[in-house]
Amino acid sequence: MTTTPAQLAAAIPKAELHIHIEGSLEPELIFALAQRNGLSLPYPSVEALRDAYAFTNLQSFLDIYYAGASVLLHEADFHDMAWAYFLRAKADNVVHTEIFFDPQTHTARGVPMATVIQGLSSACERARAELGVSAALILCFLRHLSEDDAFATLEAALPYRQHFIGVGLDSSEVGHPPSKFSRVFARCRELGFHVVAHAGEEGPPAYIREAIDDLKTERIDHGVRSLEDPALVAELARRRIPLTVCPLSNLKLCVVDDLRQHPMKRLLDAGLCATVNSDDPAYFGGYMNANFVQTVEALDLSRDDVITLARNSFEASFVSATRRAELMALLDDAVA
Ligand SMILES: [Zn+2]
Repeated sequence: MTTTPAQLAAAIPKAELHIHIEGSLEPELIFALAQRNGLSLPYPSVEALRDAYAFTNLQSFLDIYYAGASVLLHEADFHDMAWAYFLRAKADNVVHTEIFFDPQTHTARGVPMATVIQGLSSACERARAELGVSAALILCFLRHLSEDDAFATLEAALPYRQHFIGVGLDSSEVGHPPSKFSRVFARCRELGFHVVAHAGEEGPPAYIREAIDDLKTERIDHGVRSLEDPALVAELARRRIPLTVCPLSNLKLCVVDDLRQHPMKRLLDAGLCATVNSDDPAYFGGYMNANFVQTVEALDLSRDDVITLARNSFEASFVSATRRAELMALLDDAVA
């Protein structure tokens, strides 16, 4: 029996490297946590909340994203949110994941840093033990806040540094260039953390340039607007700086009008280490395989493209050489 490229995409093992755990909160879980914590929500029902997910741009999404996160108060809430994501990831044959979390969204509401990190970290350990999914956490700074706030967040998180492997930069991109965070990223590199940043989603290619030159990021999250600058594309390809691309997010936030216009095929053809990811799956219409399958179908990607995307996800991950070899072998077995 022959499999189509889309069926292959769904079946093979892959890594997810661009998932905001707060963006995996489904309306049902938001309501369940609100009830458990005795909170009332500004939406009368699960359906009304889901109906409110009609965004037109990054900011209109972020407004509702922060409202949803307000139900997270206790360690068990963070654990349950991450565990729900791991079950979905496992179902999509995700075998490794590097998860973003936004501590400032929680500490600003009075939730202790320890609660956030320990709740998420215990879910990561459980995923390894019970699902065989390896997982790591990446702490993201909210770029609409100040660099001083990012420094304070880093300080508060350092007692728990064994629980996260890197730092990133997310939230409202335009008007908040990567260079705003040069000093705190320099400090994070000194401390031995991996560094990544969102750039070139809504912001211009110059932001991608700043991320790799000023922040010295090892990956670019999104990066789709790199295609507007051929010299930048050539450099990203030459240096094998991966892009964690999120097709359904780009569609939902109107970065592209139609998935058939998505730049994924052009990124691959340019030799870039592009990967498929879900970004904020509860809000953007799908988890890993929904992103992968719909992209393959919309762009008529080949079997080789599919395998390249999965290989890229392992190449771009921050796993040990041993774990990377294991992951690549899993892929080779699945393809054979
Ligand atoms: Zn993102």
